[in-house]
Amino acid sequence: MLSLGAAVGMLTGAMSAAEEFPTKAGAVKITPIQHASLMIEAGSQVIYIDPAQGKYDGLPPADLILITDIHGDHMAPAVVQKLAKPGTVILAPEAVAKTVTGARIIRNGETQTFGKWRIEAVPMYNLTRGPQPGKLYHDKGRGNGYVLTYGGKRFYFSGDTEGIPEMRALKGIDVAFVCMNLPYTMTAEEAADAVRAFHPKVVYPYHYRGTDTQAFAKALEGSGIVVRLRNWYPG
Ligand code: ZN
Repeated sequence: MLSLGAAVGMLTGAMSAAEEFPTKAGAVKITPIQHASLMIEAGSQVIYIDPAQGKYDGLPPADLILITDIHGDHMAPAVVQKLAKPGTVILAPEAVAKTVTGARIIRNGETQTFGKWRIEAVPMYNLTRGPQPGKLYHDKGRGNGYVLTYGGKRFYFSGDTEGIPEMRALKGIDVAFVCMNLPYTMTAEEAADAVRAFHPKVVYPYHYRGTDTQAFAKALEGSGIVVRLRNWYPG
């Protein structure tokens, strides 16, 4: 039987269907919106990560918004405002909190709780790639990836990063959302190499505009990691 989300997605082509994950605290539903933007639903709560790209009409207001970085494909104050309601919690790195009204700062290595969720901010940064020699697209410490734990399941959202040691050292990740695109982050092959190192049970490429995600899947063949390719670029 199709969920409502799946049916709507098929009718409009507007959005990929929600991915559903059982946990000890009940189901977690994750809906790709576009590029790095996604919605998480669990219990009666709604979380958005990087609400910036795609369409938000008809989507529920946010209980929690997590933002990874300052670039326009991650931070969009007008979209945050549209999704916010009284009491919405916004967590973001300091560089984002300077721009997004009401955002509370969470830094690399810090952990906060929100209802049944544990939210851990983890590093995301470039090792080598940048707009010019000596500059990086993403400086270490500026942005946050996030590891979210709910009902014993751990979900990782990479943000914009290369295959940094902190990613490779992640432990016990059940579901990972990993970026790949040049010139800003990394290649499909580099992403696959980093993913092999921390070995999530399931991985979704996201933030992959212009990248051959089949190459990512191929590079993980035989790894035992389940690769799920979804359309993050509707329309
Ligand atoms: Zn980005």
